[in-house]
Amino acid sequence: MIRCIALLTTMLLLTVSCSGASDTETAQVATDVATPTEVPFTPTFTSASTLNSSLTPTLVPNIEIINYSGFSKQAIKKWVALAESKMKSRESRIFVFIYPVGKMKTPEKRIRSDYADRVFREHDVLISKDEIKSILGEIERWFEGDPCLDSEDKRQYLSDYKTWLEQGGDTSTMHPACERTRIVAMAITENMREHETIKDFQTFLFHEVYHAFQQDVEMEGECSRKRNEAGENSNSVWMNEGGAHYFATALAAELHGKTNYRSQILEIASLALKRKGDSERMGHDTEPDKWGAAALSLMIELNMITEESILNGSLFHECARELEFDHTSAEIQQVKNSWYLIENNSGIFQFKEEALTK
Ligand SMILES: [Zn+2]
Repeated sequence: MIRCIALLTTMLLLTVSCSGASDTETAQVATDVATPTEVPFTPTFTSASTLNSSLTPTLVPNIEIINYSGFSKQAIKKWVALAESKMKSRESRIFVFIYPVGKMKTPEKRIRSDYADRVFREHDVLISKDEIKSILGEIERWFEGDPCLDSEDKRQYLSDYKTWLEQGGDTSTMHPACERTRIVAMAITENMREHETIKDFQTFLFHEVYHAFQQDVEMEGECSRKRNEAGENSNSVWMNEGGAHYFATALAAELHGKTNYRSQILEIASLALKRKGDSERMGHDTEPDKWGAAALSLMIELNMITEESILNGSLFHECARELEFDHTSAEIQQVKNSWYLIENNSGIFQFKEEALTK
């Protein structure tokens, strides 16, 4: 349902996870009532060395959450902690804000902003002006002392968040404010409240925080050079998005005692392909999380990567997506030309034999 787009110079990470996972479940869990929950401000940095106060302060990679959704903050904190516990290592400090939006404005109006320009759409605003002020105030305080942000960065970023909140933007994004400073914005739409399950919300949450855990999103040097050079053929978007979708689907399944997440990933990719139509298959520009997760599944089957490297986040530590896997290589071409060779075997979705033959 959502819109995953790629900016080539700045990675824009959005979830597309909210629709596909919910096809078979109908339980309702979220409510219309926005539940304000306070986020106590706590100092977020400590001195790198007590012996040398001239060193730049090192920020603790903590996670702050401000929640105006119908889900309890305690539950959200628990789920984020669960996702975090799966990571091999953690670097970024993360601020998550979650808020409800109402009906979409008609005709559709795209929101102008610096980051994610025209990606989100206007909706009725369900939180008060004071609540918006409170969210922005918390982020502003959280930004304080972060050495990678100058005052112009902070002004620009806060202006974007303000715009999204004041116009009821249906955000679902991780904004890499800096290499190790990540903002997650999640809007809970009417459709999510009325038709989606708690598992869908968990998948949405896991997807976004996984992006915040990806350590190489903003890696410069050869990583960004290769990404920019490859342009729309770059591996970055589909691997980043596919990794988040794979992780989120697997963890939500684990939480609900399910083991068939691989089948689910392939089923969702098949449905996405059907929506798009075979003719556009090779365009690879829409729903990169869905086909990307199927492509990563195939890479696991072909022993190109380990599943563990997705599930513990280490696949996204050193820019393997560009530096280890060249988009022009025969093996990546095979993956991109074979991920959709999927069959439904008595309800279990799996790769056809021809996809697995090297
Ligand atoms: Zn995403």
